[in-house]
Amino acid sequence: TDVTQLLLSRIRDVVDYPVPGVMFKDITPLLADPAAFAALTETLADLCVRHGATKIVGLEARGFILGAPAALRAGLGFIPVRKAGKLPGATLKQSYDLEYGSAEIEVHAEDLAAGDRVMVIDDVLATGGTAAASLDLIRRSGAEVAGVAVLMELGFLDGRRKLEGALNGAPLEAL
Ligand code: 5GP
Repeated sequence: TDVTQLLLSRIRDVVDYPVPGVMFKDITPLLADPAAFAALTETLADLCVRHGATKIVGLEARGFILGAPAALRAGLGFIPVRKAGKLPGATLKQSYDLEYGSAEIEVHAEDLAAGDRVMVIDDVLATGGTAAASLDLIRRSGAEVAGVAVLMELGFLDGRRKLEGALNGAPLEAL
């Protein structure tokens, strides 16, 4: 569609970043273009409403930039899922494997509970590890998963397949 073309045209490929051999998808040109940023925000907000979300979780850090305006637009609360050690209150933590080592994310325990229906927003789905961990975290809180919405899915990394179990039938929307 026209929106897809606009969004695609505002994503920059950066060669050998952050390490040699990786092509990084840089979304900062999109954020700097108010028409593209507005179109993305509106599309994400529509998806959240369509899938019956009652809360939006954004994944640190670019999921905050995309998720917060979408939450406002949809009239939903925004909940940050952060890398470990950044949230001041009582948290639920979830660790997950990286290519080398592991990482941990957390959410304020009081922000999610049974009865909530949560849409997860991030910029890029790569291996799917971060998104899968966030879904585990959400389910452990007692909340229900409405789905995952990302701007881009790097298809060659097979994240969609790796996320299947954690999605457990919930939709993965990649714009
Ligand atoms: P995954 O856990 O799916 O392997 O990695 C996804 C996380 O890494 C996301 O939070 C995303 O922001 C970041 N990421 C991985 N590759 C890229 C990329 O090429 N561009 C951007 N903007 N983020 C990326």
